[in-house]
Amino acid sequence: MEEKELKNVKLLAAKVRRDVLSMLQHRGYGHVGGSLSLVEAYAVLYGKQLRYDASNPHWDERDRVVLSKGHAGPVMYSTLAECGFFPKEWLNTLNDGGTRLPSHTDRLKTPGVDATTGSLGQGTSEAVGIAQALAVKGSKNYTYLFVGDGELNEGQCWEAFQYLAAKKLSRCIVLIDDNKKQLDGTTDEVMYNFDLAKKMESFGFKTQVVNGQDVEAIDAAIDVAKQNAETANCIVLDTIKGAGVPYFEQAVSNHSMKWNNDEINKATDEAIAKLDEEIERGEA
Ligand SMILES: [Mg+2]
Repeated sequence: MEEKELKNVKLLAAKVRRDVLSMLQHRGYGHVGGSLSLVEAYAVLYGKQLRYDASNPHWDERDRVVLSKGHAGPVMYSTLAECGFFPKEWLNTLNDGGTRLPSHTDRLKTPGVDATTGSLGQGTSEAVGIAQALAVKGSKNYTYLFVGDGELNEGQCWEAFQYLAAKKLSRCIVLIDDNKKQLDGTTDEVMYNFDLAKKMESFGFKTQVVNGQDVEAIDAAIDVAKQNAETANCIVLDTIKGAGVPYFEQAVSNHSMKWNNDEINKATDEAIAKLDEEIERGEA
């Protein structure tokens, strides 16, 4: 990544992280852990890799993004708002009655959302359908599929992956958010995932494992995936649930949290203040 690109992507990541915290604090509850773990991946996509036109969300030549772990809506909304798909004021309407930003992503409500998700596993099949349709049309566009590690408990994911691999749909890039936790505990406790990279390789994917909080590593992995047209592509993002804020990283139960005590509000205020300083420096 060139220096200027790197600076812009890091700046976008700081803004997205700040907005996620701010919108959830305003709402008073929400899926903080699995939103924060994806901040860097979203910043790389929308800050560099993704083809889109914020003023024309349905542009036929766009790449598609499917957030199968739809409960991480806040990371997608923050990114879309920062990239100009809709006004930032919408962020504080998260999950209100009649909002354009429901807690789980909905393609009929939010500009820039390509798939309605949240019922775990189903987004994987949607992404496969989208990628297959693009391939039939002869499109060169990419489909990026975000799937959670806990979500991989759903058998549907493996049906979808089998199809991607069998049909060599290399332009659908699977990004697994391997944050080692899910709603009920650690992924090891709930349903041991075995070695994710080996599993994906055995399905026929070219699989890379990268530090999912390192924007340069993610960017380089996407470049490699784009060069591989021979097989399906998977990037395992080695992430931290609650990434970027020690309080949320260390909270044992950080899947969905409530802003109902001084401790969480103080930690959030401090994190936002720090990110605001970083953003100010980045914009200088
Ligand atoms: Mg997880």
